[in-house]
Amino acid sequence: MVMKMKIVLLGAPGTGKGTMAFSMSRALSLPHISTGDLFRSHIAEETDLGQKAKQYLASGRLVPDEITIGMVKERLAEADCRAGFLLDGFPRTVPQAVALNEVLKLEGEELDLVLNLQVPEELIFRRITNRLVCSACGKPYNKLDFPPTEDGVCDICGGPVIQRQDDTAETLRTRLDTYYELTDPLVAYYQEQGILLNHDNSSKHTPDQVESLITKVKEQINLKRRSSAAAISRE
Ligand code: ADP
Ligand code: ZN
Repeated sequence: MVMKMKIVLLGAPGTGKGTMAFSMSRALSLPHISTGDLFRSHIAEETDLGQKAKQYLASGRLVPDEITIGMVKERLAEADCRAGFLLDGFPRTVPQAVALNEVLKLEGEELDLVLNLQVPEELIFRRITNRLVCSACGKPYNKLDFPPTEDGVCDICGGPVIQRQDDTAETLRTRLDTYYELTDPLVAYYQEQGILLNHDNSSKHTPDQVESLITKVKEQINLKRRSSAAAISRE
């Protein structure tokens, strides 16, 4: 049976949310919704939203909640999200998390799991400054651990593999400070809701590790569903 899952990936920049989301969305057949990617495509297409978001991405600051929440609500209303989703990079502030809960509640739904990826800061710097991405299909690469087989060419789609403009040591400092100030409080927020799963993501993943994490994710979601079903039947 296909499980309808609503999962959030949490973690500082460079903890591997995008890479994990890329593998997990395929394994679980869930749409991968990356707010960073959504902003980058708005910027590339020069939409109004893209014009507004541009300066924030370039400096490593968060796009204001109002703009971000509106964009995500629109995306979640699309048909493919009815069967669940994997959110990567959203929520990143408490008001965003509250808005997400409200949107889901209107549909009688709730988040199933928040996967919190943890990596020591020294490694974050090393990963981000070596990070590459396919500008056509979004597949993440890394010069150190996961380089493309042929330099500059995506293994999957043959598209150009590039370095992101905001992946500089300077912007990264701002992005990390912003993370600690505005996003890190979400760890406690979701812990209180009983849906947080911490995962040490500092070693290079192998397909086996990803598979065992996915098994753990499914188990935790099943456990939570069984206990909330039991609570309802006791009422
Ligand atoms: P990373 O996780 O490596 O920082 P992302 O691609 O997720 O990269 O985000 C890139 C940029 O897009 C952020 O630095 C920020 O400017 C903007 N952004 C992404 N998600 C959000 C969000 N939920 N709220 C506000 N701004 C966001
Ligand atoms: Zn590609």
